[in-house]
Amino acid sequence: MTVVLAPIDRSCPADPPWIRPRAAYIHIPFCAHKCGYCDFASLAGADHLANRYLDALAAELELALDGPRPVASLFIGGGTPTRLNADQLSRLLATIARWFPLLDDGEWTVEANPGTLDPDKVDALASGGVNRISLGAQSFQPSSLRALERNHDPDDVSRAVALIAPRFDRWSLDLIFGAPGSTLDQWRDDLDRALALGPSHLSCYGLVFEKGTSLWKRRLDGLVRPVDEEVEHAMYAETIDRLSAAGLLQYEISNFARPGHESRHNLVYWANDAYYGFGLGAARYVAGVRSVNTRDLPAYLRRIESGQDATGPVERLDPEARARETAVLMLRRTAIGIDREDFRLRTGFDLDALCGPSLRRSCSRGWLEDDGRRVRLTRSGLFLADTVMSDLL
Ligand code: SF4
Repeated sequence: MTVVLAPIDRSCPADPPWIRPRAAYIHIPFCAHKCGYCDFASLAGADHLANRYLDALAAELELALDGPRPVASLFIGGGTPTRLNADQLSRLLATIARWFPLLDDGEWTVEANPGTLDPDKVDALASGGVNRISLGAQSFQPSSLRALERNHDPDDVSRAVALIAPRFDRWSLDLIFGAPGSTLDQWRDDLDRALALGPSHLSCYGLVFEKGTSLWKRRLDGLVRPVDEEVEHAMYAETIDRLSAAGLLQYEISNFARPGHESRHNLVYWANDAYYGFGLGAARYVAGVRSVNTRDLPAYLRRIESGQDATGPVERLDPEARARETAVLMLRRTAIGIDREDFRLRTGFDLDALCGPSLRRSCSRGWLEDDGRRVRLTRSGLFLADTVMSDLL
């Protein structure tokens, strides 16, 4: 199995990728409509602020950086970046390319939603340097799309893929299982229909009722209820089995890819490497300090336009807490797990001295496997990953 590890720059040990970022995230918050489960920094009905937002983003980059920072990975997420029109997308990409020139063989991903792409936008993305698209399909069942309060229909997904696939070798579909009212058969159909479109990468997440979302309120009011735990368990098992049978290998708890098509950007997060983040609500992790921008759009615009940064909470973890966090993130990588030598190099801690008792507990329960070099989740551990990880913390 080919698995891409976040690159370790051993030529410059004083400036490794867990200290100096080689990745950048840019957030575009605009959406056509707020989905029922969405807890992201996104908003509908604010498109009239898009040009002002792009100006602010450029000003934020100018304020924060004293020169271009070459990176191996760029990710424009949202929100719905493809809610911008083609001219706005071109302008955004030019701004980003100026500050974050992409290294050779670098990955540049843009998130897109069905129903928001057209040939001009796809052309703007491809000619602007983007080489990977992540499409939020979520489901092919009209009833699940309604339950999730998505505002597209299943055919919009295939129409979007018809635009993307001829221009991008690397593209991914996002799916959600466990929508209220959904069945195991419907989820099997979702997986089959996703595979039939030929993605090289699939992200499959179980639905989470995030506090404050419309879906969470509907659940509190008794208007919807989650699918039964056994059904959700069976849906996840089906995901692992069907996708691996189709040649998409599981490289993270919720992510599957053809060899060589793993998301390099997400591997940066799961190695606990450093990354830049700009835009509304964007998080960054630089030199061991994690900070996040305000999620309030008027406040973001006001602060940037008056020459201030938009940073909200800042967290500086002590070395031991950082090392434990690194162990948890690395464990998400189901194929690689935690490599003891890599862990020591990155954190300065010996894995067994730090986490020995909890690792042994999970190994003895059959949730982790340990070959002396690496520790990884077993298949049964995948279903109990939260328990294994909270024990490590
Ligand atoms: S399209 Fe994505 S970001 Fe926008 S509201 Fe829906 S889930 Fe949230």
